[in-house]
Amino acid sequence: MVEDSRVSLEVYAQRLERRGYQVATAISAEEARVELEAGLPDLILLDVFMPKVSGFDYVRELRADPKTARIPIILISALSDTQHIVEGLEVGANDYVTKPIVMPILTARMEALLRSSELVRRLEVQTELLSKLAAFDDLTGVYNRRSMFHHLEAELSRCRRYGRSLGVLMVDIDHFKRVNDEHGHLVGDQALRWVAGTLQNELRSMDFLCRYGGEEFCAILPETNRAGVARAGERLRAAIERNLFELDGTQMNMSVSVGGASWAAEESQEFPDLLARADAALLEAKRAGRNQVRVANLEATTQPS
Ligand code: GH3
Ligand code: MG
Ligand code: MG
Ligand code: MG
Repeated sequence: MVEDSRVSLEVYAQRLERRGYQVATAISAEEARVELEAGLPDLILLDVFMPKVSGFDYVRELRADPKTARIPIILISALSDTQHIVEGLEVGANDYVTKPIVMPILTARMEALLRSSELVRRLEVQTELLSKLAAFDDLTGVYNRRSMFHHLEAELSRCRRYGRSLGVLMVDIDHFKRVNDEHGHLVGDQALRWVAGTLQNELRSMDFLCRYGGEEFCAILPETNRAGVARAGERLRAAIERNLFELDGTQMNMSVSVGGASWAAEESQEFPDLLARADAALLEAKRAGRNQVRVANLEATTQPS
């Protein structure tokens, strides 16, 4: 509660405390600023008429700061004319109560505001959860295909604008059907998680790994030219070959085939379909016997037959 009359401040703080609220008090906006450093309240009761910084000005200040922008504020003033109430709400207060304060009305309004801010808070938690669900693959925890297309789009335009390079890798697990057939789908699922984790470990933090489809992953590699794509592809391939997937005493050698494509400003003017080229290169790696890396040639614009 911010109120420049020390007597009123103490009286109301006491009444509120008797009703079960924890009250922090300040006799000016300046003092309130210090108080807010110590911790944010669930709600602010703010006197309109105060020397130096008025209640209206302080509401503007609180709303401009992201830390306090959402805290419910009730303005308190002896003035009950329309213009004042409207102005108070327009500068960003949530409610306006006139003096002398009628405690049951004040607390009823406080409770109403606290209820709606609790709803907003819950909505925010759910929205965050939903956006996570929308961006990540359930099974493996890496990004999903939907967010990959967003990300690729953004990277491509950045690349084009600043003349940078960009690489893409398609990774497909070799003979994955056999894993399912021999060990069951649950083990197959664990194997997928293991592959995702192993691939992620080999990538830089700026790289973006997604599950492209069933047993297929795609990595977007910013600032990576053709040679870099070939190196990264080989690193991924070798990591899956080198490490053993182990589950409940079952040990398995796995391998992946990798197709890569890249674009660099200094290599080519035109902008190719990186995904299609990486996919075509992946097909070549499969045809060449699997557990291999192929990177599309710069001039290759059509898929190999
Ligand atoms: P290739 O070396 O030619 O890629 O052979 P493959 O067996 O890996 O390829 P294919 O496309 O024939 O089979 C992919 C298999 O991946 C079939 C499908 O059941 C399995 N799969 C796809 N998604 C999942 C999943 O979420 N969990 C499990 N357990 N298996 C999956
Ligand atoms: Mg006052
Ligand atoms: Mg496949
Ligand atoms: Mg496969």
